[in-house]
Amino acid sequence: MVSDSGLERHRLRSRLRRAGLEVGAAVDPWGAEAQLDRVAWGVVVWSAARHEAVARDLLRRAPVPPIVLVIDDRRGAAAAAGLAAGFADVVRADADGVELIARARAVGHRSALARALTAEAGLFRELAESGRDLLVRQGPDGAIRYASGAAREILGWDPSALVGRRAPDILPEGDPDDPAPRVHRVRRRDGGRVWLETTTRVLNDPAGRVREVHTDSRDVSDRMRAEAERASVTRITAAVAEGIAFDRLADLVAREAIILVGAESVAVVRLHGDEGIVLAAAGPGIRVGDGMPVSALPAGGLAAPVAVEGALWGMLVAHDLDPTAHDGRGRERLERLAPLVGLAVANARARERLVALATTDPLTGLANHGAFHRRLGEECARASRTGEPLSVVLIDLDHFKRVNDTHGHAAGDEVLREVSRRLRDCGRRGDVTARVGGEELAWLLPSTGLLRAQEAAERLRAAVRDREFGVVGRLTASLGVAQLGAGGPADVMRRADLALYRAKEEGRDACVAWPQEAVTEALFD
Ligand code: GH3
Ligand code: MG
Ligand code: MG
Repeated sequence: MVSDSGLERHRLRSRLRRAGLEVGAAVDPWGAEAQLDRVAWGVVVWSAARHEAVARDLLRRAPVPPIVLVIDDRRGAAAAAGLAAGFADVVRADADGVELIARARAVGHRSALARALTAEAGLFRELAESGRDLLVRQGPDGAIRYASGAAREILGWDPSALVGRRAPDILPEGDPDDPAPRVHRVRRRDGGRVWLETTTRVLNDPAGRVREVHTDSRDVSDRMRAEAERASVTRITAAVAEGIAFDRLADLVAREAIILVGAESVAVVRLHGDEGIVLAAAGPGIRVGDGMPVSALPAGGLAAPVAVEGALWGMLVAHDLDPTAHDGRGRERLERLAPLVGLAVANARARERLVALATTDPLTGLANHGAFHRRLGEECARASRTGEPLSVVLIDLDHFKRVNDTHGHAAGDEVLREVSRRLRDCGRRGDVTARVGGEELAWLLPSTGLLRAQEAAERLRAAVRDREFGVVGRLTASLGVAQLGAGGPADVMRRADLALYRAKEEGRDACVAWPQEAVTEALFD
């Protein structure tokens, strides 16, 4: 039984002091508890019977869980109650001084460690909270146990709203064997996308089971966008420089612009006045050939004008911009792409001009000698494949020297131009009309047999003869016709030439087909 007499208290204090314990009033359950927070550890004298309430109060206020010195505890019930109540240790009142000191020191040591740990944990949490990185602790089931404050800025989520969630769309699955950071794209709460570079660390328990997964993610969207932009512009520039076909380039621009600008869809639109027509498109909702008048440009989109050789050609149109993805620079990026499209159009035009220059006769606008023979080769090969007929007509103006001699070379040229027009008018789509020599023209008629070719040649002969050529007056032409046989392109040209020669021999203004018997001969060769 403890006595709360002054004498009893005095004795107890002296014993504790003799044992080297700084007790004073601080540990006196009967006295001034206010001083408790100045002691590193303490001893509470507790008689379960009489002072439980006071002891509990002390325990609540004490910075260090005190030892309970059990004074009256024959059955050990008070010691058990003391430990259960949260005291750091229990010591019987008759324990010797050495034991008391050792126990008290151990308590103090533990408390100091715990305090330091708590302080450090606080420091780390502060670091985690104030950092720009998103730190996340996940349980073995993937459920988030802790997310740092950066979740708000990076993902738009309040950290507390993430706790308990499994969020594989936010954080990557950790690979315990690969500590290298991974870059991946995740969805923000507001629907926007953000690139995270995430380092994952898996913590195992001693048995090797996953105890916790820690991830450290930083927002690398700016870096990724800059890299993507550089790569994309390089791809497009290279394609323009290579001179790929315009429709392929327009497709490429539309696809790349979707990512660059952060739009749902992008279209390359050709403008004719206020009317636009889609030449290339990427993304849902727009198709090639769709009309897109300037007046119907989308409210939530962007348009950048495309100029070609100083004139407005069309526009690049981006729809449904992701406000978080293009950081307000979507217009700038689209406007940077537009000149590349303009360059590609100008390139395509220049190429067309070059091809035209290389294949067209400048005086008459007909195909030139080289182009005619190329087409002849292609069409003959096709005719052999399909078994369809093919014919050639050669035309030579009669006494053309006289035209030059009488009216001058310029008048002769004008006649050549006019004959070429009449030749073109006689031709069908798919025919090739060419100037193969000075005043010699050629006419390639695919899918046409000898008889029909002869009829066509007669029409041309009439077209030349029946109408005057201005001051030059009336002129005539001689024509030779041949159909492709087993001898190929060279043979058909040779026979058409022989037929033309015969037409001249027969007195000009004539149309001669290569003699039937010779065709038969050729067939039986
Ligand atoms: P033929 O009836 O036998 O064909 O008599 P021809 O005078 O037409 O004789 P030929 O076909 O051999 O003569 C071609 C002439 O066409 C020679 C040349 O003065 C003229 N010629 C050739 N190329 C041109 C050209 O580009 N412009 C002009 N004005 N004349 C040309
Ligand atoms: Mg001639
Ligand atoms: Mg002639």
